[in-house]
Amino acid sequence: MKKIKQLLKKISMIDYMEKRYNAQNDLLNKRLSILEAMLSELCALQGIEKKYCAACDKETPIFLPYPYASKVTLDTLCPHCTSGKRHRALAFYLENNTNWFNSNEASSSSVAKLLHFAAEEAFYNKFLRMKNIDYYPVDFNPDFPRKRDVVDIQNIKYSDDMFDFIICSHVLCSVPDDIKAMSELARVLKKDDLSALYIMERLYDGETFSEIFRQNNFYYTYRTYGLDIVDRLKDAGFDVEIVRPNMSFTEQEILCYGLNREEYIFKCTVSKLTM
Ligand SMILES: [Zn+2]
Repeated sequence: MKKIKQLLKKISMIDYMEKRYNAQNDLLNKRLSILEAMLSELCALQGIEKKYCAACDKETPIFLPYPYASKVTLDTLCPHCTSGKRHRALAFYLENNTNWFNSNEASSSSVAKLLHFAAEEAFYNKFLRMKNIDYYPVDFNPDFPRKRDVVDIQNIKYSDDMFDFIICSHVLCSVPDDIKAMSELARVLKKDDLSALYIMERLYDGETFSEIFRQNNFYYTYRTYGLDIVDRLKDAGFDVEIVRPNMSFTEQEILCYGLNREEYIFKCTVSKLTM
């Protein structure tokens, strides 16, 4: 049975990749539906409980493997919305700690401006549909598909105090001047207790360090953050709340919701008095 599960995961990964890059192909979508039903049946036979994705609010028999470089991480991608573990952690947190994440009621006084760097597919599709959000998905790369504007985070083209919320997940690690980027984020965020910037980064147990790589005559930065990212954010003018969103979940809940217990979210606000 273990072998069958491994094989099915492999097949489902192929279908996921095909679906992602040929989204208009109805035949592939049907194949994926049949595959999901088959997996659901097999999981039920084995007594495996269904998983729940907080990003799209749907159930799934399994989270799919995620191929990255030479490794494959199991139990990661939601087959419905392609969310990964960190996206579901952020979705859970925003759903339980804000009043805008799952709201769809709009009035002229309640529409919030949301700035989102390198929008993940799972959130992009959700935010585009929400009537209570004036959504600004942006990216530095003009070829990036999910964007409203081309924006350099080190020199943001928008006016001061423009945004109610900002999401910036796994972006600062590859920005050459992250200190400048943080001060720009503080500039465009509204200065009140309700507005916030949400940052997620891969952390390690040490001080932040940067490496410069060269590929095809193009230089790029990769920064590995330690918890001293909090000092950098404070220096940029933010009040920082360190959130450990998954620490209170049981082991069973971690598996069911497809989460990584060691996740961090940095909730950053700027008070009127600070600026
Ligand atoms: Zn999902």
